[in-house]
Amino acid sequence: MIGALAACGGSGAGGAGAGGGGEEPQSIEDMTVGVAMPTETSERWIADGAAVESQLEEAGFEVDLQFANDDIPTQQQQIDQMITKGADILIVASIDGTALANQLKAAANQDIPIIAYDRLINGTENVDHYVTFDNYQVGVQQGTSLLRGLGVLDENGEETGEEGPFAIELFAGSPDDNNTAFFWQGAIDTLQPYLDSGVLEVASGQTEMDQVTTLRWSQETAQKRMEDLLTAHYGGGKEQLDGVLSPYDGISRGIITALQNAGYGDTIEDGLPVTSGQDAEIASVKLIDTGVQFATIFKDTRKLATQAVEAAESFAKGEDPEANDTETYDNGKKVVPAFLLESDIVVAENIEPLLVDSGYWTAEEVEAGQ
Ligand code: BGC
Repeated sequence: MIGALAACGGSGAGGAGAGGGGEEPQSIEDMTVGVAMPTETSERWIADGAAVESQLEEAGFEVDLQFANDDIPTQQQQIDQMITKGADILIVASIDGTALANQLKAAANQDIPIIAYDRLINGTENVDHYVTFDNYQVGVQQGTSLLRGLGVLDENGEETGEEGPFAIELFAGSPDDNNTAFFWQGAIDTLQPYLDSGVLEVASGQTEMDQVTTLRWSQETAQKRMEDLLTAHYGGGKEQLDGVLSPYDGISRGIITALQNAGYGDTIEDGLPVTSGQDAEIASVKLIDTGVQFATIFKDTRKLATQAVEAAESFAKGEDPEANDTETYDNGKKVVPAFLLESDIVVAENIEPLLVDSGYWTAEEVEAGQ
């Protein structure tokens, strides 16, 4: 079990990967990786779980994969059990970025290296590596896609001279997810010049992140908030709203349902406001293909899985995983070395090259039911 990783003196704070205690180095075939994923209610995490599991198995590891149903105590318990059952390395996509300090301390006490997956874990020394996408850049892409949908920017990101004014509303992700503030900051930095110049207007006045977060990224919560905004600021459904910044496809679908129910039309061509998104979930890719949702951000979960598995292999060999960012991700206790991947804006025109040709979704999956 634990403690038998090859000697790895330099692997950073917390002693993770240091292993040893004089025991023989263990081979990957004898090692188990505990993989804690937040929820199966969103396709992206199912895809992440499957990709991490299969790639770890290909590398020779045993895998203990758990999904926590977006429930913090469940995730805590699952990680406790992974440790008790003898996990040698942990890969954790947290639900609440601050709720795992006890579990991670227990892991570190047993020299189990901890890889934060997609979401940073805060307030603990005991995170050894972080694999994710460039979260600020994802936010920039979300803001950019909204501006493109409104016609303020063209497909190359150049200004068209379109002056609006356009009525928009803003949504942010779950307040306990460390990524939320990064997405928000990237998006608002992109939109702010146009808010300042009056090209964009937010009738509700809700332009601070704290006013627009969506606990647990819930589609229902987003739908309800959109309904309330329409009632309070848009005459209950008159066609005044032009666009919505949405940080995640599930939230986008909640927003779109509220708008459709309020009589905005079924498609963007019919008067439905343009909506951004994230994750290229198949339900939203179909909506983009049929002109209902304007855009999403594609984060290739297969590549993130590969990065996590490479990090696990490095720890197994007693080495430090490769990082390409050692400045950005301060978790309040340390700056966690990170490997950041790039993401892409998906609109109707590039579903095929980005999602179908890469094998992320098949053409049949995109077109089914249309
Ligand atoms: C992930 C996003 C995802 C969101 C909701 C975030 O932490 O980075 O890709 O849309 O969680 O699951």
